[in-house]
Amino acid sequence: MWDESRPIELCKNLLFTDKSGLNRMERIYSIKSCREIEVVESSKQIYKVVCRRWDQGCKWMMRAIKLKINMWIVGKYIIKYTCDMDTFNGNHFNLNVDLISLVLISHIESSIRYKVKECITSFARVYRCTITKRKVFLGRKRVFEIVYGNWDKSFAALLRYMAALQHFNPGTVIEWKHDRIPNIPEYIFIYVFWAFKPSIDGFVHCRSIISIDGTHVYRKYYIKMLIVIAIDANGSIFSLAFAICANAIQETWT
Ligand SMILES: [Zn+2]
Repeated sequence: MWDESRPIELCKNLLFTDKSGLNRMERIYSIKSCREIEVVESSKQIYKVVCRRWDQGCKWMMRAIKLKINMWIVGKYIIKYTCDMDTFNGNHFNLNVDLISLVLISHIESSIRYKVKECITSFARVYRCTITKRKVFLGRKRVFEIVYGNWDKSFAALLRYMAALQHFNPGTVIEWKHDRIPNIPEYIFIYVFWAFKPSIDGFVHCRSIISIDGTHVYRKYYIKMLIVIAIDANGSIFSLAFAICANAIQETWT
């Protein structure tokens, strides 16, 4: 029985619980063998893959059938490749985002700052082959979505998060601003601003100069996160307010 957590060699009579596991296993196998394989038959009962260089005489193939017990079994299997090994320069045909994310998930779960360069090294250690920066970038992005959720879900959670902030910090002031574009049903986010009650109360004791600083968020949502601070009577930094805004226009900064 094939178990992804304890991989074994591909062999005749190996059992799989589903076709997707079978597909993933043959792709892993092809990458480790430095060969490319392709599916030539995939139906409810039969799954067959051959070497992509079959037209050069390579006979490698694997054929699995579905059993009545709803499992798949490797029936015919020709183990020997007669084609040459290749390096593929990071563009292996069978290497997809799902496979890359399998390698990276434990690393990114441990560290949100796991860099693309480190991903490439990890991948090379597991599969002993190179991978392009673009492919690893897409795999890394998929893992971030699996572990931390995607951009849309994170943004949707902001509303709930702000409501919780206000509930557990009574007196907190929150202001949202949205805009409408003709013929588009959704509201467009402009900014959300919030100030905690202790900050509001303490503001009168601060010196009369405030500072605003911000950091940029890139990629899909090109937004800014802003903080307003003042200096209190002890000469210490005193946070006054926070904001997330869509663009650094005059309206959002004031
Ligand atoms: Zn071959």
